[in-house]
Amino acid sequence: MIGIVLKPGREKSILRHHPWVFSGAIFSEGNGDEEGEIALLKVSSWRGEVLGWGVYSPKSQIRVRMISYDAEVYPDDEFVAKLVKASCSRRIESGALAAGKAACRLINAENDFLPGVIADFYSGFIVCQFTSALGEFWKNIIATTLFEYVPGCKGVAERIDADARRREGLKVADEGEEALKLLEGDMPPKEIEIEENQVKFLIDPYRGHKTGFYLDQREARKALAAYAKGRDVLNAFSYSGGFGLYALKNGAASVIQLDASRDALELAKRNFALNFPEGGNMQFIADDVFKYLRKCRDERKTFDLIVLDPPKFAESKLQIMKAARGYKDINLLAMKLLRPGGILASFSCSGAISPGFFDQIIAEAAIDSGRDFQLIERTLAAGDHPVAVTFPEGAYLKGVILRCII
Ligand code: SAH
Repeated sequence: MIGIVLKPGREKSILRHHPWVFSGAIFSEGNGDEEGEIALLKVSSWRGEVLGWGVYSPKSQIRVRMISYDAEVYPDDEFVAKLVKASCSRRIESGALAAGKAACRLINAENDFLPGVIADFYSGFIVCQFTSALGEFWKNIIATTLFEYVPGCKGVAERIDADARRREGLKVADEGEEALKLLEGDMPPKEIEIEENQVKFLIDPYRGHKTGFYLDQREARKALAAYAKGRDVLNAFSYSGGFGLYALKNGAASVIQLDASRDALELAKRNFALNFPEGGNMQFIADDVFKYLRKCRDERKTFDLIVLDPPKFAESKLQIMKAARGYKDINLLAMKLLRPGGILASFSCSGAISPGFFDQIIAEAAIDSGRDFQLIERTLAAGDHPVAVTFPEGAYLKGVILRCII
């Protein structure tokens, strides 16, 4: 039979509905005439039992991503359109798209049972990322379904500059090429205004990080805002200012937005002007966080509230120990800069660092700081970023809010 046959015993993860098949689990692979092409194939165990259907990606380490775990359920276009609609319906029912300037993740990849498919909604424009051969294979049907099904949708576009696409052997934007491609309807404008918990943000769908914004931290930003009143805040790794803008809105005495990227800070400044036309106590500092925290230590500068929301330090399991040193370093430095009673909100978006390991890193930093901390809150990715329980990789984002006792 033409398709994928797994090595003995390697069907276990598929039987547990984990969607990834690594190259090392495959005994034989083939799609007949067009050897080496992306294809929808039947996946079978060594004993010949058909496990379901997946999209074959010849250039990727994750050689197959599963879409149907039932031999009898062939995933045609209608099947995929149904998954897209179901995913959107879950958000529509929750009321997440109701407001005029709503922003929400509509499809959260593996966790919404569409591996490698991301779709984010920004005030009527949908920006997708297809980071798997599976997404690429059904791109058109996904875009058309989104356009026709999502209320108020004005256009659907796709970002083709994610590193994950390169790892999958998919086309990425060439030097100088526009990274945003139109799939349906109207092209998104250069800047889209959204509103989240009464805070306004400008999104750049062409060049902003990910699809333009860190929607996953919405709930964490809200949680943090509750501790901001009267405090001097350092928002490290600020990007377009999220945590800092929430803090100022909620009565912070002062806010420093700190990021290494001047483009991110430019956007943060425009977001500040948008939310505080009358001005406010907000400063923007372009610097490396590792260096800036040391500078504060040397100058004996202190804060009441520090946010650490760094980029992914570990891209894979191979980088775990190096990433752990990075997390410990910034957390230890930040802990030393807090005034008694101060708050530290610390996050990790490295999927390779488990929540338990992150806790351990935080505890070690606390011990080395010579001070006492309490855990007062944990945060997860916002509810429009659900995690499939059979896909632990989906739980990449974790956060802790700590109080410094002495
Ligand atoms: N907290 C933000 C998202 C942060 S994303 C939000 O709520 O939207 C991580 C940010 O860290 C990016 O803006 C990136 O430019 C910045 N960054 C990465 N490495 C850095 C470093 N060493 N020093 C300062 N900023 C850094």
